[in-house]
Amino acid sequence: MTPLADLLAARIAASGPITLADYMADCLLHPQHGYYATRDPFGAAGDFTTAPEISQIFGELLGLSLAQAWLDQGAPAFTLAELGPGRGTLIADVLRATRGIPGFHAAARVHLVEASATLRAVQRRTLGDHAVTWADSVQDLPDHTPLFLLANEFFDALPIRQFTRVGQGWAETVVGLRDGRLRLGRSAPATLATLAHRLADTRDGDVVETCPAAAAIIAAIGTRIAQNGGAAIIVDYGDWQSLGDTFQALQDHRFADPLAAPGEADLTAHVDFAALAAAAAPARVSRMMTQGALLDRLGINARSARLAQSLTGARLAAHQQATRRLTDPAEMGSLFKALALYCDIPPAGFDP
Ligand code: SAH
Repeated sequence: MTPLADLLAARIAASGPITLADYMADCLLHPQHGYYATRDPFGAAGDFTTAPEISQIFGELLGLSLAQAWLDQGAPAFTLAELGPGRGTLIADVLRATRGIPGFHAAARVHLVEASATLRAVQRRTLGDHAVTWADSVQDLPDHTPLFLLANEFFDALPIRQFTRVGQGWAETVVGLRDGRLRLGRSAPATLATLAHRLADTRDGDVVETCPAAAAIIAAIGTRIAQNGGAAIIVDYGDWQSLGDTFQALQDHRFADPLAAPGEADLTAHVDFAALAAAAAPARVSRMMTQGALLDRLGINARSARLAQSLTGARLAAHQQATRRLTDPAEMGSLFKALALYCDIPPAGFDP
């Protein structure tokens, strides 16, 4: 048992089973024992790898798409924000790729929303002496300037609730105890107003997931963009509507039992992009597209060929493999989706 498993077991013994959302929140962000609070989990030596860690092109292209939107809106003074920046690689690539755009850096104030003190320190090192302000939540971002925002693999880390349909009601997945060990169970079915719209497209036994925190975060971003201008690009794995059990643990690049080692495995769930889109008003929302299609439209092949010119041998092969990994439908190309929030015209690469 991990120290966090002991704490959770004591809490459940005292006051009963907890929701998956409560379990995920503690596993990921408990101040002493949380997964993100205690480590840098990325890369070959860690538990998983993300698009910006695979290739610099990912951040370059997303950054240039946002920069084009900034130019289209008259190049105002603005907040450049990222949610859950991990090692800070994506924002560093964005800043490097936009250096040549006149006025962009002078107009930008960089804000990073990051809950983990450990990862804030890594981001500080990655960004060198670039001026940065950290925020605990999206609500703390400035609310009087245009907001240009990126979030990659942020929403999949937010706590979800999971429900199984039983007749016209829903039984919630909970974490309880059996023989002193953490066990998944289900609450008694209840009717739920928040899931009324899912009665039309589900059947008995179907599983759906909700992410209350995601809706609140999107609403805060949407309000800022509609009021002050800006745009947001969100990339994550998931699909248009949540269906099925997608709650999963990754440890050492392999799937693991999500209850086996609380605090020591990454816990995620697929992102429901329809729920994000529904929460974005009064901002406008693009069509959802695959990561592969977005990067293709933003010119990944031309950029990749340009970088390949200075490479040979194993480095060239690794570079070509990284490009393929981001776009190939059998790799990240179609599991990962992208969505943009905007006020007038969508950022480059996206359709209204
Ligand atoms: N975007 C990065 C890292 C993704 S991992 C990349 O693509 O490599 C998720 C990131 O979100 C981590 O930095 C984690 O510490 C942060 N995070 C998770 N939940 C958070 C929350 N509720 N508030 C702020 N940051 C959070």
